[in-house]
Amino acid sequence: MLQEIGTIQQFYRLMKETGEVRRRLVARIMEGRSAVPPDSERLGSYLQALKRIPRRHGRYQLSTGLSGSQRSLYLELDYEIDELEKDLVFFQYGEQALLDHLAGLHTGFQEELSGAAQFCRDMSLPLNCLVSDRDGTVNNYCGRYLSSIQSAYNAVFLSRFAEKAVRRAVLLTSAPLSNGGLEELTVSPPGNFILAGSKGREYLDQRGRRGALAIEAGKQEQLQRLNRRLADLLQDPRYRLFDLIGSGLQFKFGQTTVARQDIYGSIPKAESEAFAGVIQRLIREIDPDRLYFRTEDTGKDIEIILTVEGESGLKDFDKGDGVLFLDSELGLDLSRGGNLVCGDTASDLPMVSAAAKQSANLWTIFVSRDESLQARLRRICERAHFVSEPDVLVCLLNRMGREMG
Ligand SMILES: [Mg+2]
Repeated sequence: MLQEIGTIQQFYRLMKETGEVRRRLVARIMEGRSAVPPDSERLGSYLQALKRIPRRHGRYQLSTGLSGSQRSLYLELDYEIDELEKDLVFFQYGEQALLDHLAGLHTGFQEELSGAAQFCRDMSLPLNCLVSDRDGTVNNYCGRYLSSIQSAYNAVFLSRFAEKAVRRAVLLTSAPLSNGGLEELTVSPPGNFILAGSKGREYLDQRGRRGALAIEAGKQEQLQRLNRRLADLLQDPRYRLFDLIGSGLQFKFGQTTVARQDIYGSIPKAESEAFAGVIQRLIREIDPDRLYFRTEDTGKDIEIILTVEGESGLKDFDKGDGVLFLDSELGLDLSRGGNLVCGDTASDLPMVSAAAKQSANLWTIFVSRDESLQARLRRICERAHFVSEPDVLVCLLNRMGREMG
């Protein structure tokens, strides 16, 4: 039996281990071998360890485990638990059982899957390029960035599509690539996907090569200066907690994210606002004339973004800029057409615009029921389809991979 999970640090450690085990399992399946029982059983004991964490009002109680400022956080662990359960069904009972399990979780799952397959029937496979957002699109949404480890079934399904049904597959996210980034959260075998972090400013390609969009040296220095100060600040016992909740502290390429709250409201309002004030004062101190940074406070996260030169003055780097950078850097040949772009929020629309500029032979599938977002997408690309859950899209991609297999 695994050790009891009492602190949030132990919880993150356990989730990291699930990633290592899942990576081994997925590699075996993709090589056409069967999963090793000790590994799949291990996933079962991780699940049990999570379920043994004491609960209060339906939330899991974990202590911060920080000396001098120990306190309890009450977290929802839906993502972590649900995804482990799905993996167990997949390894113990097989793919059809998992599809049945998903159909039980999501009303109208089968209909949505058939509808999406119908939408794709005129695509000529293999496609040229898939460009997809991760969270909320091909990965179920998790309120904690550091524990949003990809599940094994998800990696198997997406890898099948990437290997068989498309020439180049790109996963593009706003999270950083490394050091607790996209790379560590991904369990699919290296080489299936081009992983692009920081909205496409940095990448790891299918041959394992890394690259990044150059940032002006002076601006980069300012960002590093800010990052050092933030890292020091989060060592202060009063603020260490903010490293452990929600988005935590993420040093992206050209952008830094600091959490001040999570989606569960774990931090009292006054404490969260006071911390936001501390961050704003620090930014004013480093950049009094607002030459380098633009900030955005979502209420959960404070985003500190290095400005870039756009066609009409200073602008934010968006995911569309990322797509165009990767196209020229990695030869995605988007202009050849036969491209599929997937996303779930308005921040993914620039990816569609960028791909549409390169070729009209474009397909889009968004995971969203938001009507105004749907209308905005349709104005950019007529060939648009919508589903309500990442699981539907992931199963659709699996089906397309299998058809080619
Ligand atoms: Mg998303």
